[in-house]
Amino acid sequence: MGHVPQSELLGQPIQQLTEICTRLGQPAYRARQLYDALYHQRLASVELITTLPVALRQQLSAEGYQVGMPEVEQRFVSTDGTVRYLLRFADGQSVETVWMPEGDGAEDGDEVVSADAATQTNDSPAAASAPAPISRRATICLSSQAGCAVNCRFCMTALLGLQRNLSAGEIVGQVLVVLNDHHVEIGRDRVNLVFMGQGEPFLNYENFIAAVRLLVEAVGLSEQRMTVSTSGIVPRIADFGREAIRPGLAISLNASNDAVREQVMPINRKWPLAELMAAARAFPLRQRERLTFEYVLLDGVNDSVENAREVIALLRGLRAKVNLIALNPGPEIAYRTPSPERVAAFQQTLMRAGIPAFLRRPRGLDIYAACGQLKRTRQLTQLG
Ligand code: SAH
Ligand code: SF4
Repeated sequence: MGHVPQSELLGQPIQQLTEICTRLGQPAYRARQLYDALYHQRLASVELITTLPVALRQQLSAEGYQVGMPEVEQRFVSTDGTVRYLLRFADGQSVETVWMPEGDGAEDGDEVVSADAATQTNDSPAAASAPAPISRRATICLSSQAGCAVNCRFCMTALLGLQRNLSAGEIVGQVLVVLNDHHVEIGRDRVNLVFMGQGEPFLNYENFIAAVRLLVEAVGLSEQRMTVSTSGIVPRIADFGREAIRPGLAISLNASNDAVREQVMPINRKWPLAELMAAARAFPLRQRERLTFEYVLLDGVNDSVENAREVIALLRGLRAKVNLIALNPGPEIAYRTPSPERVAAFQQTLMRAGIPAFLRRPRGLDIYAACGQLKRTRQLTQLG
């Protein structure tokens, strides 16, 4: 065959799959079967799609079509059950994806939690014969770019620089690999997705949104269990508010005034707090929805009670909660993690002002899987 250009099926919506099938002289229902095989059955190669005739599978391969499922290059398992995956794409580029059993506490206090826990005990007749499978909860943390261009001073991903954007298929592929690895059953297990891995999702906006649509419409995950985090790409916050299908929004605040924010997040010079907070105020929240503000506590930099009071002033009148994260250390990070007492004082100050403030526990610290640690670390050494 020699020179067949490779094209990846993952990431293609039903319309495009239909075009492919039509071009190959196939009826439209073949596209549906293909769509189902990719996103529901989560099959990793064209040869495995037994719902399609052998001849069609051969035809697809001959035309250079591949599923495009990322490969697990390395898998690190933490003592707390967190798994960090190094996933490799067709061109050799790798990114990280993290599986956190039971979530990371970020979804604590979210309203959706108890409602369907009740329906799950009310089992279907099928469950009577076989032992009822136990519903599991987990959170998958996805990368939207390889590396990141934003350059926050406390984040190890920044040290990679931006390598490239991920395609919609590469974002969806991360989810499918991890779901397969854990034998997750959509509809039984409760899976949250957070776009909080490598990269700034709002600087890869189109692919990010295309991935969200596929994850909701094709894979069957709920947009209510998805959260995207942005460092504050202001014009995209407005665009995002207009999306019909969208995750919840988290904004990485990380400082209580412009002077400190500029120091820790240089992007604040482009979009300072006044603009960021105006975008947050204009954001169209749905019923019972809240904005999330993330705040990485850096010892002696942004973690005083005075800083907490400034945060209270910034958030006044907003329907919001705050996720506090004590800095996860990294070998090349210049900041220190505050003491539990300082963290508690900061949290208490917010809570007393009526702002729900949750402390996110670090997950997978020992395997460099925690927030801000994703730098494709291949060897594990003691954290300094
Ligand atoms: N680029 C997006 C999403 C990925 S980062 C963003 O910045 O929002 C996800 C979260 O991890 C952000 O809230 C970020 O502030 C936080 N984070 C980055 N480095 C961290 C570190 N070293 N310790 C704790 N949290 C960190
Ligand atoms: Fe990029 Fe987010 Fe890290 Fe900032 S915190 S460098 S935006 S990944």
